[in-house]
Amino acid sequence: MKIGKVLIANRGEIALRIHRACQEMGIRTVAVHSTADAAAMHVRLADESVCIGPPPARESYLNVAAILSAAAITGADAIHPGYGFLSENANFAEMVEAHGFVFIGPRPEHIRMMGDKIAAKDAMRRLGVPLVPGSLGALASLEEARQVAAEVMYPVLIKAAAGGGGRGMKVAQDESGLEEAWRVARTEAKAAFGDDAVYLEKYLDRPRHIELQVLADTHGHVVHFGERDCSLQRRHQKLVEEAGSPVLDAAQRDALGAQVTRALKQLGYRNAGTLEFLWQDGQFAFIEMNTRLQVEHPVTEMVCGIDLVKEQLRVAAGERLGYGQSEIRFQGHAIECRITAENPDTFLPSPGRVTTYHAPGGLGVRVDSALYSGYAVPPHYDSLIAKLVVHGGTRAEAIARLRRSLAEMVVDGIETTLPLHLAIMEDPEFQAGDYTIHWLEQFVARRNPAR
Ligand code: ADP
Repeated sequence: MKIGKVLIANRGEIALRIHRACQEMGIRTVAVHSTADAAAMHVRLADESVCIGPPPARESYLNVAAILSAAAITGADAIHPGYGFLSENANFAEMVEAHGFVFIGPRPEHIRMMGDKIAAKDAMRRLGVPLVPGSLGALASLEEARQVAAEVMYPVLIKAAAGGGGRGMKVAQDESGLEEAWRVARTEAKAAFGDDAVYLEKYLDRPRHIELQVLADTHGHVVHFGERDCSLQRRHQKLVEEAGSPVLDAAQRDALGAQVTRALKQLGYRNAGTLEFLWQDGQFAFIEMNTRLQVEHPVTEMVCGIDLVKEQLRVAAGERLGYGQSEIRFQGHAIECRITAENPDTFLPSPGRVTTYHAPGGLGVRVDSALYSGYAVPPHYDSLIAKLVVHGGTRAEAIARLRRSLAEMVVDGIETTLPLHLAIMEDPEFQAGDYTIHWLEQFVARRNPAR
């Protein structure tokens, strides 16, 4: 199957990133956009564009009928969903295929399976992947939550089966807090996902978040591209990611990689995916799988010297991977800063017109951003405006390069988190690689003692 034209069902930096890969492969692109994004960079650079609705995402970027019509009228062969929006919607993937387009992503059944975190954990348990201890399925009652919590021991976490973006997740430090955590998690889950099924996990007190990037073709070959350490989070949202993890050595990476690729081969998985783990005391425990390209994929590309979007396009077209695990090499160290249009202390959103934009450059510096001078960041969408990614021979060099690049970068007219990222890079604990998933929240609190 030849893919000659791809519709990119997304916006912002990721739409641009997918467009770039297509263009280098001689594939034409179709941008879709809301009326708020008529002047956006992805619309300007794509070969064709179609307006699919008004600013609210549910009427545009989540409007399946409008997106499928846009693909039909422009004669697209395939649809790339990017991340967010419809990227993990199994019904959308199914409809894309039912309408005769190639879905650039996993099989709908695997998107569905991994979108239900309880089903995902169950599948991984059966495939021999280690899990965070907890309930085996959805909790039927508060009484059952009490029993499981007593078995795995407090503190525990109540999590939404349909969870995402850190919502529907509540910690109970001890039995007295369980009822409240149970109630709040279910209410949040119902409101955010329309599904109040919850499960229970032991709450790990000082883990790192380490995830593994995988890729599978449709001929039974599965490889991994190593790990990313995404422990720097605020409200369970990642801010800084690095490849590799400062705490893993090659043998530990190989062992995890072998286990995961074996499992996905057995599952018959296809295209790109990421398995997320918590790592504590040298042990990995699976928490969830993302069946899509992730925001932080560039750090992997920098250390492996591959283009993950091109690989996605190749395997979606039915091509064989054409290389084995032993040909994938990891070189140097890469770090990504997610720069958002937010106040760096209060995190209040700061959309508006960017009067001056200047991106840093030089050896080993990559900026994935859809900004330009004069562009107005719309208030309707995610606040991510740029990903600054650097590669260095060593982690220390990458950090020095980030400090230099962050200082060079100019985004005037709106508030951004650039100063926060600079402060993180200058912190001795970060520089030592000595952090857990709780480190960033404490760092932010130390920076703003009055708050
Ligand atoms: P979401 O899909 O909402 O992002 P995840 O299951 O991926 O939810 O978890 C998000 C983050 O929450 C993790 O990266 C980690 O920081 C924290 N977390 C999740 N499960 C646990 C746990 N059992 N113990 C401690 N922290 C956890």
